[in-house]
Amino acid sequence: MTKIHKLSSELTNQIAAGEVIERPASVIKELCENALDAGSTRIKIDFIDAGLKQIVVQDNGSGIAADEIDLAFMRHATSKINTNHDLFNIATLGFRGEALASIAAVAKVDIVTNTGDVNGIHAIFEDSNKVKQEAIASPQGTKIVVKDLFYNTPARLKYLKSERTEIMKIVDIVNRLALGYPQVSFELTNQQKQLLKTTGHDDLRQTAANIYGIKVAEKMLAIYAQSPDFKIAGLISRADDTRSTRNFITLLLNTRYVKNYRLVQAIVDGYGTRLLKGRYPFAIVKIDLDPLLVDVNVHPTKQEVRLSKESELARLIVRTIDQALGATEHEIASFDDA
Ligand code: ADP
Ligand code: MG
Repeated sequence: MTKIHKLSSELTNQIAAGEVIERPASVIKELCENALDAGSTRIKIDFIDAGLKQIVVQDNGSGIAADEIDLAFMRHATSKINTNHDLFNIATLGFRGEALASIAAVAKVDIVTNTGDVNGIHAIFEDSNKVKQEAIASPQGTKIVVKDLFYNTPARLKYLKSERTEIMKIVDIVNRLALGYPQVSFELTNQQKQLLKTTGHDDLRQTAANIYGIKVAEKMLAIYAQSPDFKIAGLISRADDTRSTRNFITLLLNTRYVKNYRLVQAIVDGYGTRLLKGRYPFAIVKIDLDPLLVDVNVHPTKQEVRLSKESELARLIVRTIDQALGATEHEIASFDDA
């Protein structure tokens, strides 16, 4: 063994990148989250070879100032939180300051960004280092091109699934982001071939239609409930409009798509015996709550969260869904009586 020494920043970036950037879909998730945090109303995403050869994410958000571009690509540098208090009051999708540094550690990055001036900047990063920066005329917003993902981490390349599976994961994450932000227009293409386009008219049912098709969306029931701690809103399918997996259930906590088995189960439990065995509904369940009740700082991908009052929320979800489905049954029953 050699003596203890500090790792180079390239190496620590690569180690950290392993947690944040698992696959091409993670790059797209992180770049879209940045675009959303920057207040974008339009986000365009294109990829080649399931994202391994190239990913492009273009937004019309706030842009990054020329003198902040180096910081933006530095690990643990962020404009989103300052103090310990902020860490427990997260109002943005990002806050760890890891994504751009991680992406630049495992891919080549070309960025054009403009905060609304005549000129923006164009910069290129390779192996975590900036190799070029120049002024360039460009529209307000940010366009990031990520090339040759995992070119320097062959083990990660091997771990990836088939091209089809990786593309499915990309589509899935963009769908979920779009459901959390119906006011934003998302356009996802695979080498210019359209896979998804949402209108961005701030209409959840329309966004659901863009994703699941009009047939599913038009029959979904609106749900709404409020308690002192939580506000629940969203759309759920009727018990006869189902699929064989839970993948069509989207749980959003303060617009963030999260994976939480217990709360997804609460959604299913709300259907009770109305669901056939092995069948699961379409559901988009948005929960607004005080950020103080959610700890997002559990895992680098920010998809797992810890919730105070989780049991209370689960009960409220079950009740809300049961009542929404019960109300329509009642409608149908009284129609039959007449
Ligand atoms: P985080 O999102 O956790 O802050 P990132 O590494 O993803 O960390 O981004 C670093 C910083 O770069 C962000 O805090 C933000 O200020 C800036 N940034 C990144 N992407 C964009 C974008 N698309 N538009 C505007 N600013 C951006
Ligand atoms: Mg980010």
